[in-house]
Amino acid sequence: MSKVVKFGGSSLADANQFRKVADIIRSDKERRYVVPSAPGKRFSDDTKVTDMLYACYDAITEEGKNAYNQFAPIAERFNGIISDLGLTLSLDEEYETIIENFRARAGRDYAASRGEYLNGIILANYLGYEFIDAAKVIFFRPDGRFDDTLTDSCLASVLHGVFHAVIPGFYGANPDGTVRTFSRGGSDVTGSIVAKAINADLYENWTDVSGFLVADPRIVENPDVIESITYKELRELSYMGASVLHEAAIFPVRSAKIPINIRNTNEPEAKGTMIVADDPNPPQHIITGIAGKKHFSVISIEKDEMNSEVGFLRRILTVLEANGVSFEHIPTGIDTMSIVLDGKDVDKKPDIVEKICAVTEPNHIEMQSDLALIAVVGRGMKAKKGTATRIFAALSHADINIIMIDQGSSELNIIIGIHESDFEKAIKVIYDMFILSEK
Ligand code: ASP
Repeated sequence: MSKVVKFGGSSLADANQFRKVADIIRSDKERRYVVPSAPGKRFSDDTKVTDMLYACYDAITEEGKNAYNQFAPIAERFNGIISDLGLTLSLDEEYETIIENFRARAGRDYAASRGEYLNGIILANYLGYEFIDAAKVIFFRPDGRFDDTLTDSCLASVLHGVFHAVIPGFYGANPDGTVRTFSRGGSDVTGSIVAKAINADLYENWTDVSGFLVADPRIVENPDVIESITYKELRELSYMGASVLHEAAIFPVRSAKIPINIRNTNEPEAKGTMIVADDPNPPQHIITGIAGKKHFSVISIEKDEMNSEVGFLRRILTVLEANGVSFEHIPTGIDTMSIVLDGKDVDKKPDIVEKICAVTEPNHIEMQSDLALIAVVGRGMKAKKGTATRIFAALSHADINIIMIDQGSSELNIIIGIHESDFEKAIKVIYDMFILSEK
């Protein structure tokens, strides 16, 4: 059995957190490959090392500030961890190289990646594990997309002969050897890639919460932890704003059906959330989670005999494509159609309605821009009667008007569009209806 364990920035923010991490790793001999993030915040006003590195690089390259002075607080953070852990390690030569490369404008990705790189060296030294630079085993294609084929074979062969290793998260190498990072929070993706490459039995993702919550704790007081969730459900919830794991972290392990376990470094005894391909056991509740986002726009189009006008939707989609706008949902009626768009896209293309109007010649077209979408997600709803009724009853009792409804035939989720001002209230009443009332 082998496990890949990824620790987030708050799990490695200082020496005390490093000690907890080492205890966790040493308490299970199957935890063989470790993927660290850069040191995160130690307290709420603190700055993550990754953000310090971006700022440092910009100050040196754009504002021409002194490289040594700018880098000093970053070196101080790492040196603090090293001395508090009582290690004899010195990173001075590494700092020199980094400062030189910053001056030579090695790029913002290179700059940001040094947080994981240096933290990985410290963690490997502390654990007595081998350090493997991610730039030697994780690769991107010339177009910037992750190269899974090359990475898989390289990682598998390098790790084949190494029983324990630390591989820093967040970055890899371009074909020309320069460093490229994943998007923010990308160490989650590295963990998943390593787990897939070695065909691990489990990918443990250690963070500072005890798993995925059924609803956002800023909206629902003390929500339940989801014990088990499928990749598909998680994808729906993450897309709709539930964030614990990087969105792209699901894909590598999902293809190999390797489960992910979200765990809490500060509460290691809690079981956390298991993310699995399929769960043969019945779910805890009919719904697994509720998530949502504000700031959507809905364009409503009415046109007589729209239903028999061949190519109507294609013309709209051509306008969207030409403007680089992707749609979220397109619920249709007989002579009506609604196009739900991300409000951020509409902000960038404010004339999108006029352009759609020009190609569709509707009787009526209007745009409403203060829509919120809520996804009620659950594998338990499949073939189960009454779920939609309960959602609508909860909303109607709370005096909330539903602007749009969308349920795919996979019956995995029901998406409801409501006015932004009803967002928090709607999530609360749906939570009460399905989770609290079942207790
Ligand atoms: N350190 C990077 C960030 O802050 C990547 C990560 O933590 O996963 O986004």
